[in-house]
Amino acid sequence: MFTFDLKKLNFNNFINLLIISILKKKGRYQITIITTKKPFEEVLTTLKDVKNIAIVSCASCAAMCQTGGTEGAKEMMEKLESEGFNITTVIVPEEVCDNRVMKKDARKIEEELQHTDAILTLSCGLGVASITEVLSNKFPLIPVFVGTNTEFMGMTERIGRFYMRCQGCGDCILNETGGICPITTCAKALMNGPCGGMVDGMCEVGNYEKDCGWVLIYERLKQLGRLDLFSKLREPRNWSESGHQREVIWR
Ligand code: SF4
Ligand code: SF4
Repeated sequence: MFTFDLKKLNFNNFINLLIISILKKKGRYQITIITTKKPFEEVLTTLKDVKNIAIVSCASCAAMCQTGGTEGAKEMMEKLESEGFNITTVIVPEEVCDNRVMKKDARKIEEELQHTDAILTLSCGLGVASITEVLSNKFPLIPVFVGTNTEFMGMTERIGRFYMRCQGCGDCILNETGGICPITTCAKALMNGPCGGMVDGMCEVGNYEKDCGWVLIYERLKQLGRLDLFSKLREPRNWSESGHQREVIWR
């Protein structure tokens, strides 16, 4: 049963739920960023110096990961209230990571934010960055905390089974590796075939519970008749081009 405190729940939650339900029915709802819940004790430690909290819970990726969305917000609100916190407002924006969405939704809760000590977001790290940026002019002193851990960009098998298959390195070599990423499937992100820790096709990292990424790549290239690519010598990765404050701006 839907038991949100309607005084705290912004109206756009209902619109968001409707949109998501339509997208799900049309099979157009996709997960991108996988999150998991932080231990509640860690959240409490983070919030130890504040009393009045606004909850911003993402209706997209986090909702599908069951860390955010309406259910996640409701669960967090009830837990925090039972610990004596005052929840000033709860909103469930369609995509917290989208500055345009957050600007629109933040305008609707400006009055509540006047009495808010901190925002707790149930989203990925992008959501925290988005809220912080959107509120930086009008509410620069409100800290934005996060109640989740951002794990990875996820390939979805089905809800509840997500896999990291790409780390967005910015210099993709899938064309040479049969579509299997050595940076994510090899525990050491090696570029030139299996290391000495491979035994019977399994990886030493994690105690031989996972397939060796380079064995997977070998098998796939063999299947494709492209073992010439397997023996190609690749230069060590230049990580300096992948790391610091990357951005994509095309207009
Ligand atoms: S090489 Fe791997 S990590 Fe880099 S972009 Fe391609 S799939 Fe992603
Ligand atoms: S055993 Fe395979 S997956 Fe594991 S670190 Fe070595 S090359 Fe990478």
